[in-house]
Amino acid sequence: MDYVIGIDLGGTNLKVGAVLAHGEVIFRKHMPSGVEEGRDGTIKRLLYAIEEVRFHVKGKRLAGIGIGIAGAISMKKGIVVQAPNLPGWEDFNIKEELSKKLQWPFFVDNDANVFALGEGWCGAARHNNNFICITLGTGIGGGIVLNGELWHGIDGTAGEIGHIIVEPEGIPCNCGGNGCLEMYASAKALVRIAKEGKSNKAEKIADDITADEIAKLARAGVPYFKQIFLSQARYLGIGMADLVNILNIEMIVIGGGLSKSCDLFLDAARDVMVRRSFKIAGERVKVLPAELGGDGGILGSGFLAFKGLGLL
Ligand SMILES: [Zn+2]
Repeated sequence: MDYVIGIDLGGTNLKVGAVLAHGEVIFRKHMPSGVEEGRDGTIKRLLYAIEEVRFHVKGKRLAGIGIGIAGAISMKKGIVVQAPNLPGWEDFNIKEELSKKLQWPFFVDNDANVFALGEGWCGAARHNNNFICITLGTGIGGGIVLNGELWHGIDGTAGEIGHIIVEPEGIPCNCGGNGCLEMYASAKALVRIAKEGKSNKAEKIADDITADEIAKLARAGVPYFKQIFLSQARYLGIGMADLVNILNIEMIVIGGGLSKSCDLFLDAARDVMVRRSFKIAGERVKVLPAELGGDGGILGSGFLAFKGLGLL
């Protein structure tokens, strides 16, 4: 039986796994991406992880490799066009580089896009053909699936949901814009907002507070932290309303590290979305947390490879 290797390469974590055609991950290897070691360091880790997976999977043939990368990707050529979280990767032809070192067919796409592929294959959106996945992590990514196919856009940069402008004169963003959703609704944004309010609040806020700790305090009922999530929900709802008004999709799936705190913001975000979008379109949209958890990127990249090979 054939298997493929699915790779999820983010700015922080590298996840590599062996995937079977019915959507099962049979072995996985997680490690830090090691971006501080530079591009070559990360590629070395990647090659090592592939070897590790191959060593552990016995009696099956490796048919191909799929990879989702945290950046804008020109898919056909396999070039990383823009990657703010992977320094040194810009204008890098990953497909060419890995083809020199590996003998298997290789497929590449953006990490949020492959995450959407995974959720559409065997996750929350498995019965939907028109949906959007939003990944709320350090940054905010997105994958748009229309009529069962990813929408890449002309340059491969479609789905940059984190850069929907929610405050026209808002704070500057890495992309060069101002007031992007990512600056108000990502994990990084929650931490910044918590610290900004520190001076006029009695709550003690540690300098190294994390989004998970903010969630814990909000869940414990501390009003200051609950409010931070409500503000995040409002901005997310505004962004989702824009998506609904433009694309009239059936479902929005929320993934990424913050999705485990969905209980703190998702209902409120959905209310804002319904209020601010066209009535029929807004009311019909199901907004759900992702189902595949930490395996989402591996499964999505696996699907990308199976599909590219014509095996699905
Ligand atoms: Zn931006």
